[in-house]
Amino acid sequence: MPIRNVPLWLDRYPKSRRPSYSRFRGELETDVVIVGGGLTGCACAWAFAGAGVKTILLEADSIGRGGTAESAGLIREDFDASFRENALAHGLRASRTMWQMMRRASLDFSAAIRRLGVRCDLASSDYLTITRAYSGGARLLQREHQSRREAGLEHSWLKPAAVNREAAVESGGAIRTHGFTFDPYRACVGFAAAASTRGAVLHEDSPVRRIRAGRKQVVGKPVLYKTTKDFLLQFGLKDLAELPTLKEFEEWSRLALGDDAGETPKEEPKPEPEAEPPPPPASEQS
Ligand SMILES: Cc1cc2nc3c(=O)[nH]c(=O)nc-3n(C[C@H](O)[C@H](O)[C@H](O)COP(=O)(O)OP(=O)(O)OC[C@H]3O[C@@H](n4cnc5c(N)ncnc54)[C@H](O)[C@@H]3O)c2cc1C
Repeated sequence: MPIRNVPLWLDRYPKSRRPSYSRFRGELETDVVIVGGGLTGCACAWAFAGAGVKTILLEADSIGRGGTAESAGLIREDFDASFRENALAHGLRASRTMWQMMRRASLDFSAAIRRLGVRCDLASSDYLTITRAYSGGARLLQREHQSRREAGLEHSWLKPAAVNREAAVESGGAIRTHGFTFDPYRACVGFAAAASTRGAVLHEDSPVRRIRAGRKQVVGKPVLYKTTKDFLLQFGLKDLAELPTLKEFEEWSRLALGDDAGETPKEEPKPEPEAEPPPPPASEQS
C-alpha cells in the first residue's frame, strides 16, 4: 500500500486557503528580523508587531510547514522530563520555577489563541503520563508524582483502575496534568495573519544565508553584533552601554531563581535496580 507522507495538519487544510507571502527582494530597514516562519517565529512576529516594533520575518520555505506541521498538537503544562531528577540536579526552587513558568506559558499561549480568534480546534484536555502495568515503573512514577506534590504542583495520581476507566489502558498508574490540544498549522497561519495585520512584513521562499554585522578592526577581529536604537528603547535602554554585563546577568538570574542552598530534596538519587527508561506519555510528544 502506498504511504502518503503528508503531515496530518497540512492534509486537512484546504490547499486553496494556504497563505502565500512574497519572496524577499531588495533592501529593507527594520528593527527586528525573525528567521523562520514556524509557530515560534510567527508568534514572535505577532508579539513584536503588536508592541509597535518594526518587524520582518523571513521563511526559507513556506509558513508553518516545518516542525510545526509535524508536531502532535499538544500544549502541555509540564515538561517531557522528570521533575524529581531536575530538582536533584538543579535544586527545588529552580525546578519549581521552571514547571510553574511552563504552566503559565501554556495558559498564556492558549489565551492568546482565543483572544485572536484563531480557529485551530483549541480544546482543553487532560494529559496522562502512564507507566506500564506489572513493572517497577509504577514505583518510579509514583515517586515522581510525590516530588511534584511536595513542591506544590497540582498534578494528581491516577490508580490503574482509574486509568483503565478513563483511557482504556492497562497500566501501573499515571500522573494527570492539564493542557490543550490544537491544530498547530492553523494556529501558525493564524499568528502569521495577525502579525501581518499588525504591520509585520512576512516573506516566504526567503532563506537567510548569512547574518553579518562586520568585525571590529582590532587584534583578533571580534565579531560585531548590531541592534537598532528603537529595539533598545523597547527594553528601556538608551544605548548598548546599559546592557548588563555577563556577571550582572548571572547575578540577576540567581536572584530570580533563588539560592537553592538547603532546598534540594532530602533524598539522594540511588541506583535503581529496576530502573528503566522514563514511561512513555499517553500521547506521542517530541
Ligand atoms: C513529531 C513531533 C511532534 C511534536 N509535538 C509537539 C507538541 O505536541 N507540542 C509542542 O509544543 N511541540 C511539539 N513538537 C515540537 C514542535 O516542532 C515545536 O513546538 C514547534 O511547532 C516548532 O515551531 P518552530 O517555529 O520553533 O519550528 P518550525 O516549525 O520547524 O519552524 C522553523 C522554520 O524556520 C525555517 N528556517 C530554517 N532555517 C531558515 C533560514 N536559514 N532562513 C529562513 N528560514 C529558515 C524553516 O523552514 C521552518 O519553517 C513536536 C515536534 C515533532 C518533530
